[in-house]
Amino acid sequence: MSLADVEYEGLAAHARPKLITEVPGPEALARIELDRRVTSPSLPRAYPFVPRRGAGSVVEDVDGNVFLDLNAGIAVTSTGHCHPRVVEAVQAQATRLLHYSASDFYLPIYADVCERLDRVAPFGGRRARSFLTNSGTEAVEAAIKLARYATGRQYLIGFIGSFHGRSMGSVSLTASKARYRAGFGPMLPSVHHSYYGDFEHLEAVVFRRLVSPREVAAIVVETWLGEGGYVLPPEGWFRYLRELCDEHGILLVVDEVQCGMGRGGTLWAIEQEGVVPDIVTAGKGIASGLPLGAMIAREDLMVWELGAHGSTYGGSPLSCAAALATFEVIEQEGLLDNARAVGEVLLEGCRSIASRHPILREVRGRALWIGLSFGDHETAARVELEAFRRGLLVLGAGDDAIRISPPLVFREDQARAALEILEEAVAAAEA
Ligand code: PLP
Repeated sequence: MSLADVEYEGLAAHARPKLITEVPGPEALARIELDRRVTSPSLPRAYPFVPRRGAGSVVEDVDGNVFLDLNAGIAVTSTGHCHPRVVEAVQAQATRLLHYSASDFYLPIYADVCERLDRVAPFGGRRARSFLTNSGTEAVEAAIKLARYATGRQYLIGFIGSFHGRSMGSVSLTASKARYRAGFGPMLPSVHHSYYGDFEHLEAVVFRRLVSPREVAAIVVETWLGEGGYVLPPEGWFRYLRELCDEHGILLVVDEVQCGMGRGGTLWAIEQEGVVPDIVTAGKGIASGLPLGAMIAREDLMVWELGAHGSTYGGSPLSCAAALATFEVIEQEGLLDNARAVGEVLLEGCRSIASRHPILREVRGRALWIGLSFGDHETAARVELEAFRRGLLVLGAGDDAIRISPPLVFREDQARAALEILEEAVAAAEA
């Protein structure tokens, strides 16, 4: 066993946080001071956490404090931090080929990932083709372009509360916070918004008063709202959207960048909504921390011509190696089952905290996709900070919530410790 294995196992074994300084500690404060001088002030830092290394669901900061990570690096490290099989796959790939542009040549590992996506795409048995990117926002951009190209229509429908990224096309669909758009207008023309989970507004207002559905290329929707507060749709809403799309020849594009890759206990969240989409965007957890996104479309929709879209780095060999290892680990280590089992412990525990602490107004979620609503932003922010002070990393979402999205390897002993600390944080925020 190498030193790296010993270090990994030692750190990953922690069931609870271990703080050896006040947080942030002296080294963290020094790093933050430098960071504040030289990095873009647009970066929306949540609290003063300065990570140094991670293993499984545990992260150590630069002062040696050990935290339980209920963020998974913002829903990214699906197989946990530095899963040995993912690290090994990346290391092996790094010694073979760091880069060759898959846009211009035939990169085998790129096609291997697309083949894997074809096998698991939620298209009801129909074949899939994929375009790989470096990020979620690029996957959404690719979906916008393909939807317009394939339909010959230009309008797009997004939803209030949703987040799809920050490049100009995706930010035009994003409608979770005005500050993501402030100063950048005009947005992409021909984007209209309706209400997530609403059964009337889209037809009664948007299609009736603003745009003919015959001119709409796609409805672009997060299956479950992430940044907007970890919100689930009402029963039947996706079937309603699917029917509207079928009636008017509109494509249903589901953004699974945050809720996909097993977080909800199935590989894709849309599997739980009982409909088959036309295009899926994936990112974050797909490569356990290496930059990768995917725009996955039904084969018959990938009609664009040679040169219509491409990318120098999208689907880099390193990211593809990490993605293949991620799929294997999820499958072979039973991480979907683990997400459902440990998620149930967390959900039940959170409901029990809510029964003792009325400031926790609502607990919602599936598996390791959990949102806690506190009724106002200040209370949610206090809980987030009190949790951090106790070594528990959670993150705000929406107007009044925090999200709980640990790695899919999160263990039951860690879940029980997290619940104890969360209750302390809620009590402290209440005081
Ligand atoms: N779509 C969703 C649902 C997201 O949650 C995010 C990021 O949080 C994105 C797209 C954009 O992904 P990225 O930050 O990798 O560009």
